[in-house]
Amino acid sequence: MKIYIDFDDVICETARHFVKLAKELFGIELPYSEVQFFNLQKAFNLNDAQYEQLMKAGHTPETLLAYEETPGASKAINKWIDEGHDVYVITGRPFNSFEPSRKWLDEHGLKRAPLYCVDKYGRENYVQKWTYSMTLEDMFKMDFDFAVEDSPSAFEHLLHFPKCRVAVFDRPWNKNAEFPGKNFIRCNGWEEITAFV
Ligand SMILES: [Mg+2]
Repeated sequence: MKIYIDFDDVICETARHFVKLAKELFGIELPYSEVQFFNLQKAFNLNDAQYEQLMKAGHTPETLLAYEETPGASKAINKWIDEGHDVYVITGRPFNSFEPSRKWLDEHGLKRAPLYCVDKYGRENYVQKWTYSMTLEDMFKMDFDFAVEDSPSAFEHLLHFPKCRVAVFDRPWNKNAEFPGKNFIRCNGWEEITAFV
């Protein structure tokens, strides 16, 4: 099988880190369970300058390397690779966060998982042709049998892969999301995802 795995809040606990950052930077106390929106500006009710500051702080190499692994992620992914599946980590992180993101995977036992930065949310101003960067159109030329995603904004992208079953990683910001197809199943953690496959 060809397997698509999102990075943030699937392999690592990004939102939990942003909750800490919002408290440190702005004194905002929002419990993780109340992060209702994938858009963090909306979730933390920030003005544009605060949002920019938060995103900058959240994407420094030191911060990216400090994210905690989501329990069971590396073990599950390595099992799939051992079984001969083609696993791709497909992140919507900015292209310039590739190196620390790659390093994080290497340090967490995921050296064998290729990483691609896809401009999932139209955040890049222009497309650099790195070997690891892709536009959505590039990604749509790929094919996947299985995907793990948490972001409701990315669900529609996965409709481009008709055979693809999607494990939606259960998170507070996707609790009320409508799934665009029957092949989307909510999974609470890596054990459930592994069982679903
Ligand atoms: Mg994500």
